[in-house]
Amino acid sequence: MKMDYESIGLKVGLEIHVQLDTKHKLFCHCPTNLVENVEEDVFERELRPARSELGEVDPAAVLEWKKRKRYHYHAPRTASCLVEADEEPPHELNREALTIALAIAKALNMWIVEEVHVMRKIVIDGSNTTGFQRTSIIALDGYIMDGDRRIGIQTLCLEEDAARKLGEDKLRVNYKLDRLGIPLVEIATAPDIHSPEQAERVAFKIGQLVRLTGKAKRGLGTIRQDLNVSIIGGAKTEIKGVQHLYLIPKVVEYEALRQLKLLEIRDELKRRGVRIEEITGEIRNVSEVFKNTKSRIIRKALTRKGNGVYAIVLPGFNGLLGKEVQPGRRFGTELADYARVWGGVGGIFHTDELPGYGITSEEVEKLYEYLGADKERDAIVLVADNEDKAVEALKAVIDRARMALHGVPEETRASQPDGTTRYMRPRPGSARMYPETDIPPVEITRELLKEADKLVPEPPDVKLKRFTEEYGLSKPLAEAVLNDLRLDLFEKLVVKYGDRVSPTIIASIITNTLKMLRGEKVPIENISDEHIEETVKLLAESRIAKEAVPEILRYIAEKPSVSVDRAAEKLGLTTIPIEKLDELIAKAINENIEKIQSRPEKAFKIVMGTVMSKVRGRIDGKTVADRVREKLKHILGGEK
Ligand SMILES: [Zn+2]
Repeated sequence: MKMDYESIGLKVGLEIHVQLDTKHKLFCHCPTNLVENVEEDVFERELRPARSELGEVDPAAVLEWKKRKRYHYHAPRTASCLVEADEEPPHELNREALTIALAIAKALNMWIVEEVHVMRKIVIDGSNTTGFQRTSIIALDGYIMDGDRRIGIQTLCLEEDAARKLGEDKLRVNYKLDRLGIPLVEIATAPDIHSPEQAERVAFKIGQLVRLTGKAKRGLGTIRQDLNVSIIGGAKTEIKGVQHLYLIPKVVEYEALRQLKLLEIRDELKRRGVRIEEITGEIRNVSEVFKNTKSRIIRKALTRKGNGVYAIVLPGFNGLLGKEVQPGRRFGTELADYARVWGGVGGIFHTDELPGYGITSEEVEKLYEYLGADKERDAIVLVADNEDKAVEALKAVIDRARMALHGVPEETRASQPDGTTRYMRPRPGSARMYPETDIPPVEITRELLKEADKLVPEPPDVKLKRFTEEYGLSKPLAEAVLNDLRLDLFEKLVVKYGDRVSPTIIASIITNTLKMLRGEKVPIENISDEHIEETVKLLAESRIAKEAVPEILRYIAEKPSVSVDRAAEKLGLTTIPIEKLDELIAKAINENIEKIQSRPEKAFKIVMGTVMSKVRGRIDGKTVADRVREKLKHILGGEK
């Protein structure tokens, strides 16, 4: 279904987080790379109760507290210190990171603050040992152009990245501290984006701009996108953790669809005359109904002591729980999310999907009777689990059902790999920031701004002109590089090797060659910037011919641990020394001497063909042709 985004009033805002490639972390001297297999200390911390200074209790924090998890922190000795462990106060704000942030602010036409104040933002999931994340506003109120549309940039913050989650089970969450404290810029746009494609475009542009400072980290997990999506009559929904750019349009489309469907459900409930007081929230034990059930899943749930089947009636909801709100997700799935998140249960059953799961129509009949519910009008939700968990789960389902009368609840949702989203937690309250007293404010001096000027990236139109005029790229190739994630790599390689390898060849490897390999289903995500640089370096040293590049990269993609050097050797693609070439030419002439002498006009073609079949990809074709011509002149010259 194609939606008319203008008429539904779609509004999207982006929040883009990019890790900065600085020498040190934001508040200590640890390096900013992730480490594996290094010696580490492990310690445990309990969640601190998160309460704002006004004494408000954040609903999102209550949810985390209810989970009562223990947090285990793995502190690698080479990538964390006492600051990450919260046993030593933070050091002063990293100047290198601040300078990069200022450069980005300038490129985004922002108004830069006079003094940077570090704040504490409460985090509730244990991802920081301190219980808060340090963040600071660097600049406000800028914009970026998308065609002739101006997209507002509300804030640019410099903050510390969270600890890296290794995994979790029912009792505890494991975090690693190597990522904690890596500097991040967080760039938030105004909700000025009005279509799914525009959202992707703007996200790309902002990411590209940050990368062009040459100081952004790259690779999976170094850039994270959150989206705020709303439509007229809906609600601002925050979607966390969109990992890939290409997923953005899908996530936006599916969220707009979900809000539309929820509004339809609201309207239908109104039409049916459902009133909020009707949703009483009475939770009943209905195990009696299922005492002889054939449903294996229910029987299994009932075998444990203290377990039962619990039920609520949702008056007027019959048929609505089965309504699809996103591909593969029904309104019942939304209720199940609440049950899982708040009650920790595996899921729910509801009458829109029954009979099913071995539950018979007689049992459904009995259930309606037992609860005194109306089979034509009402829906029933069941949870089979331990009583405490079942009650918590069903309470959450009741809350969510009540929200359906208002339409779309304000939520924080998690992005899933197929572009759909699931409920994560309520949107956090606003009173979550307070000043970090351990770090003095930093004045933005003239010197700092001058330093930042050196990093401000060149605007795209200026770049395009330079690529075509100075580097001699064709316009389509220049545009392709400008829109490529590896634009900064291109520029770096041209500076380093441009005198020996033409910029057109470098651009072509980065865009066309990789695209061609991807088309052949080669896993190009295994090809790193270092691999590409090594390849260009071999070209610069004339150790491979440009014809050899696709094959070498294909090999590397399959076996990324092999060096480019080694790959070229293994494939027999290293350049042939000129003496060896001469030998091959002489041999080809000898073997064909009769043909050459009887038909001299064909001589070149014969020799060239024989030699090329042996050296293709290992030496430039033009060099071969020149040498062949010279040798033939030598042999045939006297007879003419
Ligand atoms: Zn440290």
